[in-house]
Amino acid sequence: MGSSTDPLKVSWSGLIESIQSRIRLLRSLDQREHNYLGYNLRIKGQIGGNTGEFIVAVGPGAQDKHKFRVGFRLAAVSTTIPDTRMEIAGHYKTSGIKILENPPDSIPDGPPFFGIPPSLEIYRERGHLRLDSRTYDSKCTTCIWGCRMPVEMIIDHWNPSQVKYRLETFCYGPKSCRFYKAGPLRQVPGRRGMSYTEEDWVDEQETAHRGKDE
Ligand code: SF4
Repeated sequence: MGSSTDPLKVSWSGLIESIQSRIRLLRSLDQREHNYLGYNLRIKGQIGGNTGEFIVAVGPGAQDKHKFRVGFRLAAVSTTIPDTRMEIAGHYKTSGIKILENPPDSIPDGPPFFGIPPSLEIYRERGHLRLDSRTYDSKCTTCIWGCRMPVEMIIDHWNPSQVKYRLETFCYGPKSCRFYKAGPLRQVPGRRGMSYTEEDWVDEQETAHRGKDE
């Protein structure tokens, strides 16, 4: 259990520059399973005596309570994540959150979209489209619908310890977004040199219940 003397605990403060969903993806060839964990806040500020940008994870309960969005200024304590292969954030288990400054009332029209991100259930219901990683980096890092997702790939079902890790970028936003670019098809490696290519119909099927502007 953590305590105030826990060497992994670190105090931080700063401005929310971006808030996105914290979702993991488990792949095994054409099978995939999502794990909806909470939200990642990209903060510009101070952490453990250093100044810069850093990412902290907050749980769905904290997000539901505070309704964070871009522009909040916060202070809190988080725990350094020991194994970041399945995380975008460097810190999690955020507690003692203090709101130092509220964001301006007006929210600019998107894209990118800066409102309060929806519940994780809404992300799950909406489904995602693959998003070109260069588009994500240049246009989508501040959008509530963008997600850089840690992916664990089980290479061999008969030997589940044989796994690989990577990051993939997705868009949960309106399919008509002018910034959207799918990028190349993604391949999932399997045993003995096999691989699965995720074709466009997977995204089309997952988001077929949404109109292009939803
Ligand atoms: S492509 Fe998606 S993530 Fe990027 S700005 Fe548009 S809605 Fe947001």
